[in-house]
Amino acid sequence: MTTIPKKMRAIVCHAPRDYRLQDHAVPTPGPGEILLRTHTVGICASDLKCYLGAPLFWGDKHRAGYCQTPVIPGHEFVGEVLALGEGAGKKHGLSPGDQVVSEQIIPCQQCRYCRRGQYWMCQVHDIYGFRQAAFGAMAEYVLLPSNSLNYKVPTTVPAAHAAYIEPLACGIHAVQRGQIELDHVVVIAGTGPLGLGMVAAAKLKNPRLLIALDLDERRLAIAKACGADLVFNPSEVDVVDEVRKLTEGYGCDVYIEATGHPAAVVQGLHMICKLGTFVEFSVMREPVTVDWTIIGDTKELDVRGAHLSPHCYPIAIDMLAKGLLPMDQILTHRLPLEDFQHGIDLVAAGDRSIKVSLAP
Ligand SMILES: [Zn+2]
Ligand SMILES: [Zn+2]
Repeated sequence: MTTIPKKMRAIVCHAPRDYRLQDHAVPTPGPGEILLRTHTVGICASDLKCYLGAPLFWGDKHRAGYCQTPVIPGHEFVGEVLALGEGAGKKHGLSPGDQVVSEQIIPCQQCRYCRRGQYWMCQVHDIYGFRQAAFGAMAEYVLLPSNSLNYKVPTTVPAAHAAYIEPLACGIHAVQRGQIELDHVVVIAGTGPLGLGMVAAAKLKNPRLLIALDLDERRLAIAKACGADLVFNPSEVDVVDEVRKLTEGYGCDVYIEATGHPAAVVQGLHMICKLGTFVEFSVMREPVTVDWTIIGDTKELDVRGAHLSPHCYPIAIDMLAKGLLPMDQILTHRLPLEDFQHGIDLVAAGDRSIKVSLAP
């Protein structure tokens, strides 16, 4: 019988820019619940946006804030099963010692969306690291609630890589929303940790031409290793012009926006061909202003959103097991928990890191 300590070290979010390393009680797994010993937890761009006080998390005049404090952040994690609550082993098909990842959302299983199988749009929307019902993994231990969706990670995937399964799965879903065909020219704007996963996933769709855009040459080099045929830096060339030249003036068939920058939305609307598919993935810090005429009258575009990663975890695990991504280049920093602030600063600066994670 494993003995579970009473206290653990955890990062606790109290308010924007008020995140503290604290002692916290170790949760006890109840019926259907699982306790993991955290191995690695990624710092997501959304963690940074929450830290900086983005309205999505803290509310504005249109909406209530999503973040419920005090809360332990961290939704991109992998850990080892330490203890199983009553019936949890059978329910989740897991045993002590298994390496496990958990989908970021814990579906309520009762709302309209959950009952229709659209669980990633769950009305309650408990995501690890932001909600009282789902404390995250920036702690030595993390509790997987009874409704959590969990996957055993095969030993062919190194544990340090497995924390990347969540962002990769989100990238796969965005690519699936683009409905890429064999003769398509596909542009992925933004090659951060999410965009790089999108490049690798789009490559599996085998489009005619796969193009990645970023302002950072180092990231563009990794995008090539992920499968991009061509890479362009919008600060050096007119990328709309380049893509038009490559497509007899028509523009790209699919444009996936993963930069978080309003300018990349405008750029995409000009770069995309008539009847093209525009996939929006980013969480924007500010509202985006565009000419909506392009969407309707000029080009009759399909503009599609992408949120989370429904049914994509098994694909992400398979991609990592097959070694389809240069993980040594993507995972640039793995820091101890007490270096959380340094980690957030690295993600905010973005010039030295790709994926920053913590090892609690
Ligand atoms: Zn994330
Ligand atoms: Zn629900």
